[in-house]
Amino acid sequence: MNIDNAGHKSGLDSAHYRNTVRQSDGELSKYLPGWIEAGYQIMITSDHGMNADKSHGGILPEELDIPLFFIGDCFTHQSSCAPKQTEICGSVCELLGINGHAKPVSENLMIKLPLVAKPSMTVVG
Ligand SMILES: [Zn+2]
Repeated sequence: MNIDNAGHKSGLDSAHYRNTVRQSDGELSKYLPGWIEAGYQIMITSDHGMNADKSHGGILPEELDIPLFFIGDCFTHQSSCAPKQTEICGSVCELLGINGHAKPVSENLMIKLPLVAKPSMTVVG
């Protein structure tokens, strides 16, 4: 069961929800070292949190405050870095080599672009 389903079934403050998060954390821990070793730039986040009423989509802090992790040598480790939500899309475009996008980019988040060769894409229209 995924984290969202666990939250809808059992609520934010439940052993089921917390254990589902722990299970996902354990699964990620199996893959992250290999991805880091391979030079991948990794972003881990969620599109929303969960409230105690087993739902989301509102304005409660527990629904809006989500994890956001950037792992890789292209990202800064400065604790003062605070990318805006509106800069995530443009920053991912930059990492993927997508040219021609008009999305704002977090200049504080990335310290360089990936060195590995990657196909370049251009946004048209
Ligand atoms: Zn949901």
